Amino acid sequence: MDEFDKSREDAWFKENEKQLLEAAKLAREKREKERAQKEKAEELERLKQLHHMKCPKCGHDLKTEDRDGIEVDRCTFCEGIFFDAGELEEMFLKKSASERRGIARWLLKI
Ligand SMILES: [Zn+2]
Repeated sequence: MDEFDKSREDAWFKENEKQLLEAAKLAREKREKERAQKEKAEELERLKQLHHMKCPKCGHDLKTEDRDGIEVDRCTFCEGIFFDAGELEEMFLKKSASERRGIARWLLKI
């Protein structure tokens, strides 16, 4: 093997090595991204398990109550009332005045 061939061979290995290193870097970054996504999903699930149906004020359990298709979550301790998105609008926009009064009495437990 002469100097020219040796130099071409070195260049080939160098280029090949560069491609392998680049592929390894991309694969490593892909695994890292997958782990971050998995971790994020696990964290969201952990938070959900920790806080789902718990009162944001006192931390006690929330219990779902239903009346005429309106659902509220009421704290079993402090009696705080929580609405899902859209439920409050439904109560005020779609019900008649007497139905609203009935719902208000139900919410106030009177
Ligand atoms: Zn509470």
